[in-house]
Amino acid sequence: MTNGFAHLLRRATALANPPRMSNTDQIVHVVGAGLAGSEAAWQAAQAGATVVLHEMRPVRETDAHQTDGFAELVCSNSFRSDDFEHNAVGLLHEEMRRCGSLILTMADKHKLPAGGALAVDRDGFSQAVTAALEAHPNISIVREEIAGLPPAEWQNVIIATGPLTSPPLAEAIGKLTGEDSLAFFDAIAPIIHYDSIDRSVVWAQSRYDKAGPGGTGADYLNCPMDEEQYNTFVDALLEAPLHEFKDWEKVPYFDGCLPIEVMAERGRETLRFGPMKPVGLTNPRNPEVKPYAIVQLRQDNALGTLWNMVGFQTKMRYGVQTEIFRKIPGLENAQFARLGGLHRNTFLNSPKVLRPDMKLKADPRLRFAGQVTGVEGYVESAAIGLITGRMAAAEARGVLLMAPPATTALGSLVNHITGGHVEAEAYSGARSFQPMNVNFGLFPPVEVKKPEGVKRWRGTEKAMAKRKAFSTRALDDLRAWI
Ligand SMILES: Cc1cc2nc3c(=O)[nH]c(=O)nc-3n(C[C@H](O)[C@H](O)[C@H](O)COP(=O)(O)OP(=O)(O)OC[C@H]3O[C@@H](n4cnc5c(N)ncnc54)[C@H](O)[C@@H]3O)c2cc1C
Repeated sequence: MTNGFAHLLRRATALANPPRMSNTDQIVHVVGAGLAGSEAAWQAAQAGATVVLHEMRPVRETDAHQTDGFAELVCSNSFRSDDFEHNAVGLLHEEMRRCGSLILTMADKHKLPAGGALAVDRDGFSQAVTAALEAHPNISIVREEIAGLPPAEWQNVIIATGPLTSPPLAEAIGKLTGEDSLAFFDAIAPIIHYDSIDRSVVWAQSRYDKAGPGGTGADYLNCPMDEEQYNTFVDALLEAPLHEFKDWEKVPYFDGCLPIEVMAERGRETLRFGPMKPVGLTNPRNPEVKPYAIVQLRQDNALGTLWNMVGFQTKMRYGVQTEIFRKIPGLENAQFARLGGLHRNTFLNSPKVLRPDMKLKADPRLRFAGQVTGVEGYVESAAIGLITGRMAAAEARGVLLMAPPATTALGSLVNHITGGHVEAEAYSGARSFQPMNVNFGLFPPVEVKKPEGVKRWRGTEKAMAKRKAFSTRALDDLRAWI
């Protein structure tokens, strides 16, 4: 059976056999089956709600997705650090695991070696999420675009349509909120075929030999540069022609995902202190000489045939990308499976338009989840899906569920997007709400005491103790919420 036919059949079946009503008669409609929508549908269904999940692909495509699978990772295959004791995103992973997250379960099942990070085989991961949702008895799936506000009879809706929300829906939301959706361009990093990388030049090593979960301490391929090579490379970036920006030119970038040529513009050394930093890595072929800069490649698929250029998001024109990246030692003959590119990012001014229960002030039938709420990242998007899925299921049972406390990673994100962020508008008239990754700066402060018997407590030790204290408090508070 072709994919298209299978979708039509599923859609027809869903329409002919509407899902059974739960006791309290409310169906939870989830719009968008990305990272957030998949998690939201799963959480709501697991909590006993009847769920209809509406996904527009493959009926209508986006600029970035390449499959019709759910929870497709459109760029990097990394969920970032998995260290739950000292890193806020690692803590978010752990909290989500404890809440029975579908996204984390499948990420753990399909993880790839990546040092201290949780990286996944993107296809295996997406297929597993899709299969789990399709098999869930409480979930029906409809492949259709919701091209405007959801019908009035849908009383319990989660909109999780992401940074590439289809224009008719984005427009309708914009009209309803009275807020113009902000839009800027995220840049995606290129992917290289493994057998085109010169193994006599690059070497395998994770920074500081950190093995991390499922890693070996040698999970990255490193391309070394001397000072002259680095300077030539930066010069080439500075001169490179860019994709046309048209009317989006003035839109600010999110600092966590800056294109490399924008970093180069900010200063000659910026890349050496960013994605090209040479620390924690030693070239075994020339151990006495420290490389001046290093480009890292990370495995991108389970077969190990594709490797992505870590932190190398770019908006340079395609032909120029190939030319410039082949100047990197070890990549002289690189074949690119995908070049870097630019994509739209749509998100609400959430602190203004959302309530603490993630509902839209202007139309409380609608909750929002994922990147469209102004969180940034795969994990953060799924995290908001997790919370809203549980909230919607509780509402279907006639119960009010609020988010976990702001002392947890989950709660800190909800708190930030629904009011924790302080809008610069109040001072300057300019709107300042920008997509936000989870970080300990979003948590209420913790006090840590110097351990007994320690005379001099070094800054790094204190910082690590503080992170651990954040993590311990968060997991205690989450236990109470669960
Ligand atoms: C180009 C790009 C690169 C990114 N790279 C990274 C990265 O490397 N790492 C990272 O952590 N984050 C990255 N992000 C940010 C973000 O984490 C991802 O976009 C993430 O997928 C967001 O999850 P989501 O569930 O909110 O949206 P998505 O995963 O995009 O899911 C939204 C879903 O809604 C569907 N949809 C849209 N409109 C409609 C409609 N009207 N009706 C029905 N369905 C609809 C879409 O088809 C899609 O399946 C990137 C974003 C973009 C745009």
